[in-house]
Amino acid sequence: MHQSEIEIWLALRSLHESIKSKIMIAEKKQISLHASTPVFDQITALEHENLVFCHDKETGLKAIIGIHNTTLGPSLGGTRFWKYNSDAEAIYDVLRLSRGMTYKSSLAGINLGGGKAVIIGDPHKDKSEALWRRFGQFVNSLGGRYITAEDVGTNMSDMETIALETKYVTGKPEYLGGSGDPSPFTAYGTYLGMKASVKHVFGNDSLEGKKIVVQGIGHVGQFLLEHLQKEKAKIIVSDIREEHLKIATSKYGATVVDMDKIYDTDCDIYAPCALGATVNSETIDRLKCSIICGAANNQLEDEVIHGNMLKDKGILYAPDFLVNAGGVINVYMEWVGYNREKVMSHCDKIYDRTLEIIHIAENEGITTHDAAVRSAEKRIRETARLNAKRPNW
Ligand code: NAD
Repeated sequence: MHQSEIEIWLALRSLHESIKSKIMIAEKKQISLHASTPVFDQITALEHENLVFCHDKETGLKAIIGIHNTTLGPSLGGTRFWKYNSDAEAIYDVLRLSRGMTYKSSLAGINLGGGKAVIIGDPHKDKSEALWRRFGQFVNSLGGRYITAEDVGTNMSDMETIALETKYVTGKPEYLGGSGDPSPFTAYGTYLGMKASVKHVFGNDSLEGKKIVVQGIGHVGQFLLEHLQKEKAKIIVSDIREEHLKIATSKYGATVVDMDKIYDTDCDIYAPCALGATVNSETIDRLKCSIICGAANNQLEDEVIHGNMLKDKGILYAPDFLVNAGGVINVYMEWVGYNREKVMSHCDKIYDRTLEIIHIAENEGITTHDAAVRSAEKRIRETARLNAKRPNW
């Protein structure tokens, strides 16, 4: 082929990819799911591989493991221990969270699929050694299709107990060959995503003097405050736990805003670092920020409706699964062979990738969420094609 023919061929291929992903996004726009949507309709729409229910009467364990997509590798995602109001709410959560993990690992350029587990219960009352070991047995029974780690309501010592029953667990303490708490890396990636967003909106990436509202001063939130303080940002916080607010004010010089006033607070950046779905029809009307960038998973209550509402309102949304990938990068390295420098250099890429996704969204006239999903799905499609063509010799 001549050079000019090659160029035409490449241009046509790129046009084909672009049209194909636009059609896929258009198809996805039909999907509007809720916890009350029939379970198989949710699984069909989100394209999960498995949903596994784990029950143990003696320990009171009620866990659900969602395996979304294992094209890139074994599914990996944390276990959330939470007081869900209903089983339907837990199912809805695990389905959305596990799909988010597929996109997160794909965009982060690591070879993991998407999975997640939820345990229904009160993390302050219902944990026991027997419950964790039983859960570990269930994880083990999946033979490596799902690898677990920490999430909201679980910690490193829980992972240590799970490790008594299975090798398919990460986020373990260092003395067990683990990489410890992934939260500092999640916070670092989120901070870089924030800087990239600020660069896009304000022309340079300094956070000095920027008013940043952080919702949730837990594992990730506290490490995020450390970065924000170093950059001399004006930090405003809210949390349901008094002791976490005390740390934020005494250690990081933050000021506190009432939980219900957080969405009305005048600020540059709103950083959700607690639970999901805080960006919804009610809160978007009230938000006074230019940027939303935080660590919480599934920040948009409805990806299509609320992604578009933010776009129309001119608020830049840094997709959660793009900026909060530091933790999964860290546990991935624990899984394949830990090297802290490699973890950091992988996390550093979140800055450029955030800018890239923002540019794609602007150029294509789509939401940043859709642009991020599109890039993540492209890598999965390409890998699936390669997997299918791999010779057997
Ligand atoms: P965490 O449980 O340690 O912290 C959550 C904090 O939010 C707690 O301080 C809690 O009191 C507070 N909170 C709960 N409800 C609140 C509310 N309504 N208003 C204000 N504060 C509230 O959890 P974490 O590990 O810091 O994770 C935070 C978020 O980031 C979660 O959505 C998690 O899924 C996501 N995430 C965490 C990691 C990680 O490495 N830990 C990685 C990726 C994503």
